[in-house]
Amino acid sequence: MSLLVVGSVAIDTLETPRGRAPDVLGGAATYFAVAASFFGPVQLVAVVGEDFPRAELDWFARRGIDLAGVEVRPGRSLRWTGRYHEDMNVRDTLSFEANVFEHFAPELPASYRTTPFVFLANIAPALQARVLDQVRGPRLVGADTMNLWIETTRADLDALLRRVPLLMINDEEARLLSGERNMVRAARRILAMGPASVMIKRGEYGVLYFSGESVFAVPAYPLEEVFDPTGAGDAFAGGVMGYLASSGDLSPAGMRRAIVYGSVLASFTVEAFSLERLRSLTREDIDRRYRQFISLTAFDVP
Ligand code: AMP
Repeated sequence: MSLLVVGSVAIDTLETPRGRAPDVLGGAATYFAVAASFFGPVQLVAVVGEDFPRAELDWFARRGIDLAGVEVRPGRSLRWTGRYHEDMNVRDTLSFEANVFEHFAPELPASYRTTPFVFLANIAPALQARVLDQVRGPRLVGADTMNLWIETTRADLDALLRRVPLLMINDEEARLLSGERNMVRAARRILAMGPASVMIKRGEYGVLYFSGESVFAVPAYPLEEVFDPTGAGDAFAGGVMGYLASSGDLSPAGMRRAIVYGSVLASFTVEAFSLERLRSLTREDIDRRYRQFISLTAFDVP
């Protein structure tokens, strides 16, 4: 079944303790779409500037990412520069230029309006709502957000949350949104705001999934070296939604498999700068690591 994502497609400059990567491919929707494309076709809704490399758009198309919803506008693409601390859970935004994103008003091609799986990557909640207004009867809507929107456009975000069944945010955002430090209490509060389920991404500590009364936890894949954590959360979401769209299985067991696939995609993403590791990744690599997750977490009753 088809899957749609709206969000940023960007040019990033990244600095981590492992090195520096200037002017590389980035954007939340980029990581999402490429991760999801391992499972099936993806419809991308975004805007880029004239500076955006044609070769990258061609690569998206070869990966089965439909570009009918990508506008190329006069001007520069969204540009973001981030620097990670020695503790790579901490990062600073050194510069942010919205550029063509400043006047982004997503307009879905007619062929996208009946897409059953929809993901609203991190952009202003009013724009996320605008996309939701244009789709008819989706089977599953997932969304992400960030501190900026929680702090500056809370009313828009609250309205959006009432329409989003699956929220995927990181631990810091969960704390800010809920006012609770404890993740279980934070999840309870968030579920009272609208979403039926919430996935809380905790970086190197893995993911917690809360749905109704049930809780599921998956660790992050233990890696000896992390090169660049950028986009890990977006690749996680892409793996989750990509798998769900391909299987159509939204049962509790199906959701758990999807979370493990998401964790697999996130773990590969951080192994190199930008999307470099995803360029050479294969479905076989993904399935092999999925099985490693089973042995990583398996135990029995003595
Ligand atoms: P993440 O690591 O999940 O926070 O995602 C990082 C990606 O989000 C980078 O590739 C950036 O290009 C993009 N990004 C950074 N700031 C913003 C923003 N304010 N709105 C949309 N995308 C952003």
